[in-house]
Amino acid sequence: MFGFAMQPDEIRPGLWLGGLGSLLHGNVYAHILSVIADSPYEPPATTKSHLTISVNDVPSAVLIRHFPAGIAFIKQGLEQGGKVLVHCAAGVSRSATMVCAYLMATEGLSLEEAIVSVREKRRVICPNQGFYAQLQLWEQMGCKLDESNPTYRYYKTQQAGYNWTQSGTLDPNALAELKEDSQRTETVYRCKKCRRLIATESNTIPVPERIHQQLDPWRHPRSAPKETRDDPGEVGTSLFVEPLQWMQAELDNAAIQGKLYCPGCSARLGSYNWAGIQSNSGVWMNPAFQLHLNRLDLVNHAKTPILAVRKPKI
Ligand SMILES: [Zn+2]
Repeated sequence: MFGFAMQPDEIRPGLWLGGLGSLLHGNVYAHILSVIADSPYEPPATTKSHLTISVNDVPSAVLIRHFPAGIAFIKQGLEQGGKVLVHCAAGVSRSATMVCAYLMATEGLSLEEAIVSVREKRRVICPNQGFYAQLQLWEQMGCKLDESNPTYRYYKTQQAGYNWTQSGTLDPNALAELKEDSQRTETVYRCKKCRRLIATESNTIPVPERIHQQLDPWRHPRSAPKETRDDPGEVGTSLFVEPLQWMQAELDNAAIQGKLYCPGCSARLGSYNWAGIQSNSGVWMNPAFQLHLNRLDLVNHAKTPILAVRKPKI
């Protein structure tokens, strides 16, 4: 009954897509890209290159982050010659997603065109819902990871929140890196006390506009997190950001909520809550990493921050 998983299909000359069954003849492939978690597979000695991208076939798995590495591997393999195999367990979701991302990036296909094109060769392919959304985002970002894209930032923050609620642990890959850069033209936020760089405009998570008054009955009761109540200047002065590397020590405490302190001088800068914090406009940000603007200095704030965000369908 799993016959389809046994036979790989040639999607483009030299590029094969299949399931674990393809590995029964692993020696015919010069390059093998395994998109699978915890694979004990040891490629035969004839294999010239092998790369494992460890992800589960669940909608919450973040595969988009690995698209550039997977695409580079396929490209390089095809250039070097010999057959390239991209496989997962069944050759339906994970590996197919990777091959679609590859075709979109290298042939300029739209997401729909890529899916149709792969399906012509392999009828069973079906990226799971989460991977499909990631391919949509990939298309929207012009087939490259654009850290400055607010939708991508929003997506990453949502995924970090989802994975935290599922596992109770923080994926360190979800934390954005922040470096001093004198060439930067966007707004930066520095600790008022010690001037340490805390965030840039590219780290902010825009608060989505409230869609309709009608949504009010579903809002949480007004037992807002304590730390926002004792802050007199709170109205209109909060900034929501993606989780950043300097927060790691606090976030590693595995508490559902806590305070955020400056990594330079330990001044209190804000708070986080994996279950959400209500914004000034009444929208619940979930998860939330909130900084208080009265603890920060804004530099280069002539530009208007990006306000619109399109929520990806997950
Ligand atoms: Zn400081």
